Amino acid sequence: MFNSFTESKQNNPNITDSIESLYIHVPFCTKKCGYCDFYSISPKVVDFSVFYKGLQTELDATLSDIKQNNLELNKLKTLYIGGGTPSALPHDVMTSITNLIQREIGFAQDLEFTVEINPEPIGHDTVLAAIEAGANRVSIGYQAKQDSLLQTIGRLHTFADFLIALNLIRTTGIKNISCDLMFGLPDQTLNDVLESAEQLIELEIPHISFYSLILEKGTLFYKKYARYPELLPSDDLERRMYRDLLELFERYQYQYYELSSTAKSGFYSRHNYNYWSTKPYLGLGPSAHSYYNGIRRGNVRSFKEWSDNPFISAELEPVSFFQSMQEYAMLAFRLAEGFSPDKFRKRFGIEQPFDAELERLLNKDLISYNSNTEIYHLTEKGLDFANQVFIEFV
Ligand code: SF4
Repeated sequence: MFNSFTESKQNNPNITDSIESLYIHVPFCTKKCGYCDFYSISPKVVDFSVFYKGLQTELDATLSDIKQNNLELNKLKTLYIGGGTPSALPHDVMTSITNLIQREIGFAQDLEFTVEINPEPIGHDTVLAAIEAGANRVSIGYQAKQDSLLQTIGRLHTFADFLIALNLIRTTGIKNISCDLMFGLPDQTLNDVLESAEQLIELEIPHISFYSLILEKGTLFYKKYARYPELLPSDDLERRMYRDLLELFERYQYQYYELSSTAKSGFYSRHNYNYWSTKPYLGLGPSAHSYYNGIRRGNVRSFKEWSDNPFISAELEPVSFFQSMQEYAMLAFRLAEGFSPDKFRKRFGIEQPFDAELERLLNKDLISYNSNTEIYHLTEKGLDFANQVFIEFV
């Protein structure tokens, strides 16, 4: 099939799509959470002007690359400043970064501009600086309501800190707020999970992302629990937590739109939806990823190496036309809207080539087909074993 890189450049719609999304990774955390494998270092050891200059250099090089390849870069429709801890930046650096992006790329009128924060007592002025500079969506690392659990997983904030941060954000008029919630944590009960979620519902948080604990190699939790899984909630209990969360959100009119995301009408994450739709995006900062011109790039996970040479990628993976079709199918099953052969045809200009894979998944009762809408969806069983669906397309 279309496996060569040359063919992929000619056929891959991810090359012809215009670029409208940018992610910036702010790699600073005061303390490492036990479960986290995102790249970060202590803000105490950093010269922030070096970080700003690195972003500037990387952006310059990226813009030249886009120009040389005749790609279309529009004013941004989504900008996501994440990390790490963006609120660990000094407020004037946050302002300089947003000014840089606005000057060099520009913001579309309907820009969704998200800034992530940890609800610690520090960094509030930085969040306000981001909002002043145009941020209109805030994503808060809430994780759980119970202070004892927050402590177990290594968070630096309490539930009271979360309420203070939320209140501060709301006084600026921001309504588009997302909270991260974790389940499957050590010593966490089903009741803890539901109580944490109910609290967010009561506070009228319009977007909630809910993640189960994954033991990533190299983390403190991996060392502590990989050999002793009996210290964590069982698989059955974890599945129950997930199911009960879905039911709870549905009861309160949240729309489950992706495996780990639920939102009130009109509040889904446009930035993440862009990823799940295999649209191109830029990424700046140590360990950030980008995907444009049919190439996936991963920056080095080292502040020093990145700042010495910000456009040198640690990973460069050309994505062929066939691979992009596989990814599209796999990610479509992450979304509640499912896999539509009609949408596929419109995107790739050919019929979907996955009859055998779909047949196998139908036979295993992991997906179902709705003959009225002509769309495939995950079944109840597929929700529990989504990875088995995804690997059919890898
Ligand atoms: S604050 Fe966020 S990025 Fe930093 S260590 Fe904790 S989970 Fe990871």
